[in-house]
Formats: sequence, structure tokens, C-alpha cells
Amino acid sequence: MATLTMKFGGTSVGNAEAIARVADIVQEAAREHRVLVVCSAMSGVTNLLIEAAQRAAAGDSARYQVIAQELRQKHEAAIRALLTSDVERIAIHDEVEALIDEFETLCYGIYVLREASPKAMDKVASLGERMSVPIVSALLRQRGIPSCTVSASRLIVTDDQFQNAGVLFEESEANVRRELLPLLDQGLVPVVTGFIGATRDGVVTTLGRGGSDYSAALLGAYVDSDEVWIWTDVDGVMTADPRLVPDARVIPVLSYGEVGEMAYFGAKVLHSKTVQPLVERNIPVRVKNTFNPQAEGTLIVRDERETPGTVKAVTAIRDVSLVTVAGRGMIGVPGIAARTFSAVAKRQANVLMIAQSSSEQSICFVVPEAKSREVVAAIQSELEAEFGRQDIDRAWADDDVEIITVVGVGMLRKHGVAARVFGALGEAGVNILAIAHGASDYCVSMVVRSQDTEKGVRAIHRLVVLNGGGAKA
Ligand code: ADP
Ligand code: ASP
Ligand code: MG
Repeated sequence: MATLTMKFGGTSVGNAEAIARVADIVQEAAREHRVLVVCSAMSGVTNLLIEAAQRAAAGDSARYQVIAQELRQKHEAAIRALLTSDVERIAIHDEVEALIDEFETLCYGIYVLREASPKAMDKVASLGERMSVPIVSALLRQRGIPSCTVSASRLIVTDDQFQNAGVLFEESEANVRRELLPLLDQGLVPVVTGFIGATRDGVVTTLGRGGSDYSAALLGAYVDSDEVWIWTDVDGVMTADPRLVPDARVIPVLSYGEVGEMAYFGAKVLHSKTVQPLVERNIPVRVKNTFNPQAEGTLIVRDERETPGTVKAVTAIRDVSLVTVAGRGMIGVPGIAARTFSAVAKRQANVLMIAQSSSEQSICFVVPEAKSREVVAAIQSELEAEFGRQDIDRAWADDDVEIITVVGVGMLRKHGVAARVFGALGEAGVNILAIAHGASDYCVSMVVRSQDTEKGVRAIHRLVVLNGGGAKA
């Protein structure tokens, strides 16, 4: 019997009606498959948890109590609407209530200390998934499907990089196989918390915002799933963010490489690490709509298929900053680039792209905006001597930028793709500040002014993505 891992996102478990649809989908799948379920927190819950902790740290003792009340209502409404047996209803109510008590205790502690460490933030943020999972599992039992909950903190072992923890693969795989395979063998449907893990010492961590997709991929890989299905609130991976581009279309098939770049460069539909555990095992991913399960969705596989226009999608990433290190004396001074990037790495800043500048007298690259000040300071201190000799004049960060990326396999091999993309931007009056092309065959990225992103994305979508085959430069 084939094994399917199915992950349901926040909207998919967002209220009683949605959770009932989830149960329909799992019930149908469980007829012919072994099914492993991974769930997110109910929509909006993770945001509320984080807001509560931040407000408590800032000295607000009221907001977290209001949020606790909101969390109670949200979960209680779903429990009441869905669970008919008194025993289950009371048991699940008590379980959620205990978690909300824990939330209030944690927030009180944060309020007293006026400090929310990354460790404390993860403890708070992990509560959403711990509250949603028992409801889903109880509803499955009510429908006659044997099911139990499992906390991913018992399965996914991570380092202690709180809020964006790195997974320790071998230990995690051993845990997953030991804990989940016997359950699946017994015909149970385990419902596992997405998003969370724990350090070797058992301290709760999270895998970064949107991390439930990654959780599902890890668990799916480790139980030898035949496929991983990501159930969300749109019909699949689309040619652009549908909130930005209303006529975006579903892409029927994509390769791991393409989807990896799309997710990395801002397509929120999948967490950027999702495909990593699946690539080497060659496990296909389907992205499907909980609210329109008949739609085919997007199939993500190893195979790379070029389409006539090459460009399949356009994405954008906000909250980034363009850092430039410049000076006449830079040419011919060996090791400047290496030292610059090692200073960046020490600040744990992720370099999203390294761009070619218009002159050879500068290096420029893009980092998350939250890290830009720190990165510039680190470079200034690393290159102090060069600054002193005026070999380097300046290092600065420009926060008023965003990245637009076009994705599609064959980008490097096909001539004229970049010309068409730049042509579209030109027509829309968007100035390109920097370009990165060549690091992968899947994408070209451009840095533009923040105010130009939307019109740039729309222009590329209209002139290049939709008009792929016949478009001229
Ligand atoms: P979930 O809670 O199911 O994980 P998310 O909100 O994290 O859902 O991701 C789904 C959302 O991603 C969609 O509602 C859509 O607005 C957004 N999105 C952004 N870019 C894309 C894209 N290229 N294709 C599909 N959806 C996208
Ligand atoms: N609940 C988490 C978040 O909102 C994880 C997820 O939904 O994937 O970031
Ligand atoms: Mg998501």
C-alpha cells in the first residue's frame, strides 16, 4: 500500500468548516493509502502568539490576556462545532485549555523579565500547532479513522538556532522511523505538529515561519512516502503571487530546482527548504487546494521540462537590502571579497544574491533588511585598514530595494530570455539597480526600487510569462 504524507496549512485548518474538509480529504485518502498528516496552526494563530510575546516583552501586560481569550474562542468554536462525543470534546477542550494556560504563564514570565529571548519566542510560537493537531485527530477518530497525535518535538532534532533551527538529519530520521512507522503499520493516521522541533536536550525550536511545509517534507522522506501533498488555499504553485497578479495561473508541472528558486525568492506558497529532503529520494510533491480538491494542482518532480517561453514564473522578495562596498583601491587588492563575505557570514546573514555592479570598483550583494546595519558595521571593522588607506571609500546599505526573480529551467541555455525580461521592465519604466544571472540555470534576479516591484512583476507577468512563446524583446 502506498504511503502519502499530507500537510494542511493554516487556512486549511482555519475554522470548523475547513477542518471538516481536511477530514474529508484524509478519509478519502486513507481508504487506499497509509496516510501521515502534518498540520499548521489555525490561520493567524502563530502571528497572535508572536505578537503577544513581543508586547509582553515591551511591558504590555494586557494584550497577551486579550489574545489568550481570542485563542480560546477560536479553538473552542472549532471543537464545539466538530466534536459530537462528550468524552472527546471535553478531553480536547482540556488539552487546548492547558496549552493556553501555558501560553499565559510564558507571557507573564516574559512580561516580568521584559525580555523575549529567541528560545522563549519558540516556546510560545510552537503552541499553535500543538493546539490545532488534537482537534484534527479527534475529528478523524470520530469519522472512524484510527488516529493519534504526535508532537514533532519528539521527532525532529535540531540545533539551537532558535526561530530558524537547522535540522540534524540522521537523528531525526531515526526518531521518525522508530516512532511513526509502527503507527502507520498498525493502520493509524498520525497527526503531527508542523513547524516545530527540539534540541537534543528537548528544548522546543521552530524551523522558521512557514516551516510546516519543510516538516512535512522531512517526515514524508523519512517514512518513505510515495508522495508528499501540500494542501493549501490556492489551486497550486502559480505563475506569480495571486495577490499581486490577479491573472496568475497554476503551473501544472515544475522541477525541484525551479520550485526551490521560486520559494527562495519569495513565493510564499512553499517554505524555501521544502524540496531539499525530497530531491535525493526522488519523492514527488503535489500542491493542492483544500477548498477545491478536484483541481489537479501542481506536480513537482525531478524532471526538467523547458516551456517555449522558458520563463514559468515571476516572484518578488521584500525586506531586503543592497549592500555595496566601493573604492578605487579595490582593484588589485587580493582577498577583499573573501574578507567581506566572511565578515557577513560571521553575522549569520544570508546572502540572497551577489550582483554585478556597473563598475569593477565595488562589490554589491543582497542581505535581509533586518541584518543590513550589522553587516555594514562588520565590513567596516573587518576592512578597517583599507578604509584608513582609502583603498575603500565606503560601505553602505540601501534598504529601499526589493528583488524580482524570473524562474524557469533553461535560462542560461536560451538566448534572449534576459532581453525579454529587461524589455518588459523597460516598458514599465522600471530601473534595474543590479542583476544576478548565472548562479543557476533556473533564474535571473534583479534588484529594483521598492516602489517599482509591483509594476515590474505585473509587466514581466504580462509580457514574458503569459506571452512566453511569441514575445519579442
Ligand atoms: P499555508 O497556510 O497553506 O501554508 P501560505 O499562506 O503559507 O499557506 O501560502 C499560500 C499563499 O501563498 C497563497 O494564498 C498565495 O497568496 C501565496 N503565494 C505567493 N506566491 C505564490 C505563488 N507563486 N503561487 C501560489 N501562491 C502564492
Ligand atoms: N504556523 C507556522 C507559521 O505561521 C508554520 C506554518 O504555518 O507553516 O509560520
Ligand atoms: Mg505556508
